[in-house]
Amino acid sequence: MTSKAQRFSVGLTGGIGSGKTTVANLLGELGAALVDTDAIAHLLTAPGGLAIPDIAAQFGAEFIDAQGAMDRVRMRSHVFGNHLARHQLEAILHPLIRSETINAAERADGDYLIFVVPLLVESGNWVGRTSRILVVDCDEEVQVARVMARNGLQRHEVEAIMAAQASRAARLAVADDVIENNASAAELRPQVQALHATYLALARQAAIQL
Ligand code: ATP
Repeated sequence: MTSKAQRFSVGLTGGIGSGKTTVANLLGELGAALVDTDAIAHLLTAPGGLAIPDIAAQFGAEFIDAQGAMDRVRMRSHVFGNHLARHQLEAILHPLIRSETINAAERADGDYLIFVVPLLVESGNWVGRTSRILVVDCDEEVQVARVMARNGLQRHEVEAIMAAQASRAARLAVADDVIENNASAAELRPQVQALHATYLALARQAAIQL
């Protein structure tokens, strides 16, 4: 995904509420450089975002709100069940997400790169593009409980989001590494530290081979 293709990189993914952000932040504290593709995608459609002119041209000014951001609610209902519109939106966003991700990776400074990609398995563009794939995994009941608590959602709303995502088995099938995040945050830390040590060693090996 980056022109520093030889630089050791990790694609980090997991289902909603699995703990991706928590794990990424711990790895970041230890020295990894983080590139958050969700944050990049969000910025593109925020006020003044790079995708705003194309969205206005393609869909009309009514899809841009008073602050200059994409009207997410309106766009979501517009593309819902409308394959052409969804495809048009993706044709605007995907190349920009890709180029902005590459830019962010070029600028990122750390022992190795972590790309946080919530929909890594679903997008199909990531497998084979990073040195390793790290899946943060937890039981589905734990996911439901965490997201209900964090977002104030009903069980059926969380289950609907989970049903629209790749299955746990599909994510695990592409994993090189798995962090199991069912227990407390305190129990997460040693797992993350051990994985970081492995990644540091692999990053050094990769640098020697350049
Ligand atoms: P999303 O896909 O929704 O952005 P995520 O995979 O990035 O979620 P986090 O935001 O890291 O997940 O975690 C989801 C919620 O669960 C947060 O409120 C976080 O503080 C909490 N959480 C994560 N890991 C643990 C843990 N081991 N123990 C307790 N709470 C946790």
